[in-house]
Amino acid sequence: MSGISAYDVIVVGAGSMGMSAGYHLAARGLRTLLIDAFDPPHTGGSHHGEPRLIRHVYHGGGHYVRLALRADALWRELESLTGQRLLERSGVLNVSDPCAYAFDGRFADADREGVLYESLDAAEIARRWPGWRVPAHYRGLYEPDAGYLFSERCVAAYRSLALAEGAELLTDTAVLGIGAQGGGLTVSTSRGDYAAGRVIVSAGAWFKSLAPSVDIPVQAVRKVVGWFEADERLYGAGRLPGFTFGGPGGGYYGFPSIDGAGVKIGRHDGGRPWQPGERLEPFGAYPEDESDLRAALREFLPGADGRLVRGAVCKYELSPDEQFIVDEHPSLPGVLLAGGFSGHGFKFASAIGEALAEWTASGTPPADLLPFSLSRFPSATAASTP
Ligand SMILES: Cc1cc2nc3c(=O)[nH]c(=O)nc-3n(C[C@H](O)[C@H](O)[C@H](O)COP(=O)(O)OP(=O)(O)OC[C@H]3O[C@@H](n4cnc5c(N)ncnc54)[C@H](O)[C@@H]3O)c2cc1C
Repeated sequence: MSGISAYDVIVVGAGSMGMSAGYHLAARGLRTLLIDAFDPPHTGGSHHGEPRLIRHVYHGGGHYVRLALRADALWRELESLTGQRLLERSGVLNVSDPCAYAFDGRFADADREGVLYESLDAAEIARRWPGWRVPAHYRGLYEPDAGYLFSERCVAAYRSLALAEGAELLTDTAVLGIGAQGGGLTVSTSRGDYAAGRVIVSAGAWFKSLAPSVDIPVQAVRKVVGWFEADERLYGAGRLPGFTFGGPGGGYYGFPSIDGAGVKIGRHDGGRPWQPGERLEPFGAYPEDESDLRAALREFLPGADGRLVRGAVCKYELSPDEQFIVDEHPSLPGVLLAGGFSGHGFKFASAIGEALAEWTASGTPPADLLPFSLSRFPSATAASTP
């Protein structure tokens, strides 16, 4: 091996999770190398097409609520360290058909952690936000302290802080595999090999490209979002909160029109599977890219069903149960895997990065990451080979 250089930690994939981890590692004094196949933030992965919702009343367990609250505090810290506006506390309104999904399962954890929320009926939703058209039996859950994050700015902010703390960043460099050698770890890339004591793999939609050295059950999915011209008096920022809504026709999420950009809407369920190396079809390649989003607007936010201003294509990286995977590699000690963020991970990136850095530095997993263990997929622990 020529040109080998030793680091305390190498981060494979410097996107949402990896760039945050890079900052938290370097801030702890660890000699850190970040490697990315692109030049983050970029438009090839899962973090572009900002903004991203941040909510704290969560389904799935108290660990999500605690991580969301910690992440929120760390986003505010990132704002103060960089002097940038990254988080807009617009409030988030979640609307649902209780026959398809009820919010009740979220309340106990939110109450325990002291998160503010209001439970609303359809009439109250229409009174507060007249741009909404909600069937009479639907319910709303409103979080006044929730909002949205400018995700590309967040990745750029962590990048500048990580570099300022002494981390090194290799852009446009694809990692090809990871192996153990001579008591350490070797990361093979398109530019040569690098050695480190520990490795964090946060490869987003590309985990499959790292098999067989890393083999976890993550399926990337093509997702579209659109921005639609809307009546700014009803749907502009400051008038409409961020939102999610779900019923028998599917689950959607979106944002008010920010600086006249149009109401942004995306669909959470569905999408076409994508494999690393395949062409990613642009927005509009399939008629349903626009028609599906427009139909949802027409039904629930009728004054936002205007001209399509722009569309974008992004990738979800789904785990089988749509819960995160954060665990040590089953057969490569010292390699941490962080993936399967399943379309709801960005809000947590600041806290996941911090937790990965803590785990790397201490050798012990933080308690709130334990539910994300790979052991819930027995075939994955058997399949991953060094
Ligand atoms: C349309 C859309 C809307 C979303 N909305 C929300 C939302 O409202 N709220 C929310 O919380 N979350 C949301 N998400 C989910 C969230 O954005 C993702 O969960 C999160 O960005 C995933 O972070 P990541 O670090 O795993 O992936 P990324 O940010 O994509 O980072 C992975 C990085 O790894 C690099 N990489 C991969 N393989 C290699 C390799 N072999 N060598 C070198 N580098 C490599 C890539 O280049 C990339 O930079 C949304 C996602 C999408 C697509």
